[in-house]
Amino acid sequence: MLFTITGIDGSGKSTQIYLLKKFLEIKGYSVSVSKAYGNAEKEGLAHFFQYWDDLTITFIFQGLHRQQYVETKKRLNEGRIVLADRWDETYLAYHTKFGFLSENHETMYRLNKLAFEGLVPDITFFIDTPIEEARRRLEARGMDFFDKKSAAHHLKMRDSIIEVLKERNSIFITGDKDINEIHLIIAEKVIEYLKK
Ligand code: ADP
Repeated sequence: MLFTITGIDGSGKSTQIYLLKKFLEIKGYSVSVSKAYGNAEKEGLAHFFQYWDDLTITFIFQGLHRQQYVETKKRLNEGRIVLADRWDETYLAYHTKFGFLSENHETMYRLNKLAFEGLVPDITFFIDTPIEEARRRLEARGMDFFDKKSAAHHLKMRDSIIEVLKERNSIFITGDKDINEIHLIIAEKVIEYLKK
């Protein structure tokens, strides 16, 4: 089973993945976490992004996405539950609205198929945290290249993620709730799905 938690940076994805992993492990499940890129990759690449063009950056990310797919597939074949910190929905959301691929959707879908081989999460949880709230949290943590994009950019991304998720088994959760309240919603839906 593959469950994805998505949302803008600062929305609470890592927090919820950590809690869900612990919860499922206590219930006896084997669980792996899957993330295409974390702070190390972002920090390593941040310097180059100012010089590289949009397409170069897209290829770099598709390489990282491919690796996320390969590692996820391996874990799924071992019978583990995989919790993904984003999957392909943010790729699709971004390239539908921004950059070179927004004018070439056929290529966008083909690149996506190459990386993720059409593997779609069983459930995608979208933590919909208001931009200002996510920013407040990130300011405390320190903002990276992506976080510093304008509020308008993040809003457009949010709307685009919602469009992508209309085609998927997805659950929307308002992100300014208490951490535990969000965890209970996610845990309940996951257990319900696992019992099916
Ligand atoms: P993301 O992985 O989406 O970037 P994080 O899980 O790292 O977000 O959360 C960013 C910060 O916000 C962390 O300091 C975390 O403790 C805090 N946080 C997460 N969820 C909530 C919440 N529901 N309410 C308040 N703070 C939260």
